[in-house]
Amino acid sequence: MSCWLPVLVNTPAHAALGPVLTYQSEQTLPAGTLVRVPLGSRETLGVVWDGAGAGATGEFDPAKVRAIAGALEGIAPLTAQWQQLLTFAASYYQRSVGEVALAALPPQLRELSPEQMARRLKRKKPAEGASGAVLATPALTPEQATAVGQIASHPGPFLLFGATGSGKTEVYLHCVHKLLAADPDAQALIMVPEINLTPQLEERFKARFAPLYGEHAVVSLHSGMTNPQRLKAWLAAHGGVARIVLGTRMAVFASLPKLRLIVVDEEHDPSYKSSEGARYSARDLAVYRGKLEGAKVILGSATPSLESWHHSRPAEDGGRYLRLHMPSRVGEASRLPLVRRVDMNHQPRKAVFSTQLVDAIKERVARGEQCMVFLNRRGYAPVLACDDCGWKSECPHCSAFRVFHKIDRTLRCHHCGFTERVPRACPTCGNVDISPIGRGTEQLEEHLAELLVDVRRAGSVTPENPDGEHLRIARIDADSTRLKGALEEQLAAVHAGDVDVLVGTQMIAKGHDFRRITLVAAVNPDGALFSSDFRAPERLFSLLMQAAGRAGRDAALGAQSEVWIQTFQPAHPLYAALKAHDYPAFATQQLLEREQAAMPPFSAQALVRADAKTQEAAQAFLNAARTFAQTEMLQWEGWPPVLDQLTLYPAVPMTIQRIANVERAQMLIESPSRAALQQFLNGWQNVLHATRGQPECKGLIRWAIDVDPLAI
Ligand code: ADP
Ligand code: ZN
Ligand code: ZN
Repeated sequence: MSCWLPVLVNTPAHAALGPVLTYQSEQTLPAGTLVRVPLGSRETLGVVWDGAGAGATGEFDPAKVRAIAGALEGIAPLTAQWQQLLTFAASYYQRSVGEVALAALPPQLRELSPEQMARRLKRKKPAEGASGAVLATPALTPEQATAVGQIASHPGPFLLFGATGSGKTEVYLHCVHKLLAADPDAQALIMVPEINLTPQLEERFKARFAPLYGEHAVVSLHSGMTNPQRLKAWLAAHGGVARIVLGTRMAVFASLPKLRLIVVDEEHDPSYKSSEGARYSARDLAVYRGKLEGAKVILGSATPSLESWHHSRPAEDGGRYLRLHMPSRVGEASRLPLVRRVDMNHQPRKAVFSTQLVDAIKERVARGEQCMVFLNRRGYAPVLACDDCGWKSECPHCSAFRVFHKIDRTLRCHHCGFTERVPRACPTCGNVDISPIGRGTEQLEEHLAELLVDVRRAGSVTPENPDGEHLRIARIDADSTRLKGALEEQLAAVHAGDVDVLVGTQMIAKGHDFRRITLVAAVNPDGALFSSDFRAPERLFSLLMQAAGRAGRDAALGAQSEVWIQTFQPAHPLYAALKAHDYPAFATQQLLEREQAAMPPFSAQALVRADAKTQEAAQAFLNAARTFAQTEMLQWEGWPPVLDQLTLYPAVPMTIQRIANVERAQMLIESPSRAALQQFLNGWQNVLHATRGQPECKGLIRWAIDVDPLAI
């Protein structure tokens, strides 16, 4: 006997059809079952959906209902919690649940034929080659023991606020260990911000858990994997073979039927926020998911996001997270690095490196220690200019300058990619003397090589080789690591001690464990202090703190490690807090400013971004939707109180107004109430869709809502 089946598919956003369509099936299938269904002229993947929540299947014409092509045999239905997570994520981030849910499934589920699928599923389950292995777990430090104890006895969520090297990862390992030992089905999800950090972590987790639960108990999930690898890992997680899933932000949507613990490491990292499609925050969804599934959630960081810091204030003040503090570094490398500020006002004008810093670097490398110098700008110089006529290396397609890359003598736009060879002479006046303005990592590398030309590698001057060897200076940034495997290779060279001085962008400050680096220098970090982005100081502080955390982890070196800050604002409170390694002082001061200005976390924000052929059209679209909200929506029943709690700012051009010949504008919406903002956006979505067709919006290309934006 056949029946009607509601099936979630990825229909285009806001198609006349909802995302849940009705199909015919020979047998009822439980919600969550993966099915193949016809859609238009093609066949697509769908999920049998419990109609409620995702929007009813609506009216349908029984005569037109098509039959499902088949269910994906052998794959258990997705759980109700998984469906609820995806429903919530779609609704909160203002996207279609069909789009978000289907994108969260591995691509090959969509691509493989039922026969191919069946073959994959038939593959032998891995043998559990593990029994009675003895674990080499270190005894916990008192701080770690306290944290582990608290995590065991409280429901959470937890903010594990622990210095770099305080042993946070060991706490995660310990909690996972306890969980898996106590519950033979339980699963844990461990998230890290960057793909590059997964191999390191995977190794550590495998070393600990493979002897107990087998090689296949630990799997990774991230966008750097091939589709077959992703499918394999996904199936292992979904089927319960994988007990531990390590991954980047996308892993928050992994199907884990027995999820009991979620760890979000480096929870402050902006990479947890997606910047395309559904702009979700994996950290925030992790907290939601934990509550939904009854899984404990641990957010870990040495420099928590101000949001998480605020949420972990004392419960009597309204805090919702439990803050666990681990201030001390483990073991002999327990001394925190010394932070030194160099007042650049007292250096020769245009000096890149202060003499003190150069001397300090020389001293370190002479002892065989490594130094790291970072600057957040790649290329040789951000602009090339003609002194005679004022020509600058603007990108013809963007409202930005093209960056001068000396290595291959190109001008490259970092926004649209437009690249040309550097002209021999000024394209406007013919002056041959065009010169770089400002500096990037390429120039730092070159400059350092000149400054250190007389220095020899430690121990390289011998009776046989009286000239010794030059220092080895390496650069790591998006340019030097473009080729697959290049980053790994360069990191390995640093670890092997083949590099004396490492120059790079923030890529090198994050996460990597460079034990032999004893000096870290930020050449020109002041920009963030005066940025229009109110989160810039928070990012700078965490970046410098992370960089400091890289320094001097190798106790055997016995050297006092140092972090150097070259600044024109040596008395700035941010640097003072950094010097004192006092994140709480920094956070308190920042939160006070945020509260006074009614900024997040004291208000909720959303941005609507519009791309168009002209700036006028982009702004007209946003402003028309705004006017509608301020006039027509006020007439809607029950809406005035909601609108009362909202501020809709006028449309403005984005900081980089034009990229690849597309004009960009945005509108900020703010409310002291997250609920009011959500309610407004849910109603306003339709207004935006309707506004799109208006004549003054001709030329509009696309628009998107970003809830809880990280950059405004
Ligand atoms: P974090 O994640 O906070 O940066 P890790 O967990 O990586 O810190 O720990 C830093 C170093 O200290 C690692 O080499 C780790 O193996 C070691 N370590 C951590 N906890 C202990 C412990 N209880 N006893 C001995 N070594 C430890
Ligand atoms: Zn000129
Ligand atoms: Zn460009």
